[in-house]
Amino acid sequence: MDKDAPQCELCSSNNVVLLKYYDYFLKDKLKNNIKRVINTLTFSNRYKIVKQHDVFKAVKIVKCSDCSFAATYPKVTLEDLDTYYSSHQVYAKRDKLDREIPGPRPMSNFNYLSEHIPLQRIDSVIEFGAAGAETSRLIASKNNLTQIAAVEPIDNWHKLYNQSKIKINPYYSVFDVKSRYSLLVASHSIEFVADLYANLKKMIEIIKPGGYLFFEVPNCNATWYKVKRRRVPATYFFSTGGIDSLAKKYNLKIVHVGTFGLNFDEDDDQIPIQEKYKINSKGRYLRFVFQTPS
Ligand SMILES: [Zn+2]
Repeated sequence: MDKDAPQCELCSSNNVVLLKYYDYFLKDKLKNNIKRVINTLTFSNRYKIVKQHDVFKAVKIVKCSDCSFAATYPKVTLEDLDTYYSSHQVYAKRDKLDREIPGPRPMSNFNYLSEHIPLQRIDSVIEFGAAGAETSRLIASKNNLTQIAAVEPIDNWHKLYNQSKIKINPYYSVFDVKSRYSLLVASHSIEFVADLYANLKKMIEIIKPGGYLFFEVPNCNATWYKVKRRRVPATYFFSTGGIDSLAKKYNLKIVHVGTFGLNFDEDDDQIPIQEKYKINSKGRYLRFVFQTPS
């Protein structure tokens, strides 16, 4: 067998398929115009037109037919990801840390965590890809913690952190973190890293024995591959099938795995908040909680 042929990075299966990162079928101008018309007529963003980027034109997605885990192939380098982010200014335009109403995602993450881990025993929290660190600040205020830590690569958020009532210790990279925490929160962030395994290894190192790691990522099921594949700049694509292998690889206990929200081909623009995160086996959000050995 060709030793350079891609295999599944999680379960080592050779039973993989290579997919285009971009769905060229949908990219041409005519199709984009049709999407624009549908968006206008339905007052929605359902058929969002995503601009392609050279960094991602060069890669494919290798998807495991056994566990469904997928990753970019070959790997997108950290330098290429930096190039991508620096040309997309949309990531750095907020001027207030807090919205008037806490976002539905942080609220829902908080409620999910209350249900699945002993949240009252959490004495220290770090949020990875934190942005406004809303979920961890909710936990901190509930548990009377005076500070949290936030790993956030975008400078603008660091400038906003001094608006927070709870002290936020900011880091640009998880590799700079020295302290240990009882909970790591990573909501829609690990699917964008250059090297999942180096990041996970470090995340586990900064969690106390018996502590927890919580992740929310898109649930990359069959419908996702039909309608959302061009979700630039994701580098890893998770679904329920790969979580077992991931836990095994790092000797972690699976506390919970579940999928939530509407299906990918449903429009959630007009949906009430409580519906956006309902339990749904075909839902668009995948959540999982790991526990480190005590
Ligand atoms: Zn696999």
